[in-house]
Amino acid sequence: MNPSDPITGTHIHYFLVCPRKCWLSLHHLHQEADSDLVELGRLTHERTFARQQMREVDVDGFLRIDFTSEGIVHEIKHGQSEEQAHRMQLAYYLYQLRLRGVQTHGVLHYPNQRRKERVELTPELEAELQQVIQQVEALRQQPLPPQVPRPMRICRSCAYEEFCWSDDEEVEQ
Ligand code: SF4
Repeated sequence: MNPSDPITGTHIHYFLVCPRKCWLSLHHLHQEADSDLVELGRLTHERTFARQQMREVDVDGFLRIDFTSEGIVHEIKHGQSEEQAHRMQLAYYLYQLRLRGVQTHGVLHYPNQRRKERVELTPELEAELQQVIQQVEALRQQPLPPQVPRPMRICRSCAYEEFCWSDDEEVEQ
């Protein structure tokens, strides 16, 4: 781990879903490429937004925004259960863009539910985001990943499931 590596939007998302997942990613233990869920997300993106000529937008090599249109930041998601994490990830992009002189808002797209949500970086949301950033920074300093006492529902769709729970018999409902 390089302590000067920037925090990404994905780290913010992971932290709010599972700090252990965030730690593993911060320390470059990546398994996401093999995940069926990641593949599902990719297919959702490609099928739903093919007509948008969607292109991932890279900002300074560490912010990967799904796409922008007319100056608005768009993120495409396919799970309902992590909405706060999605909102905060998008807020982080808006915050980082504002640091670079770009003031805009964002839209979360949930194509599987045919739903969208507008996200503004309000002072309240930014204050919440700053707390999360500090917590992610503190997590990064920990020498070992935080323990999770037992498998959670989200572990079933996590790329680290085998790593975390290969000795466990069954994931709880
Ligand atoms: S498998 Fe579960 S405990 Fe392990 S990183 Fe993923 S969400 Fe966290």
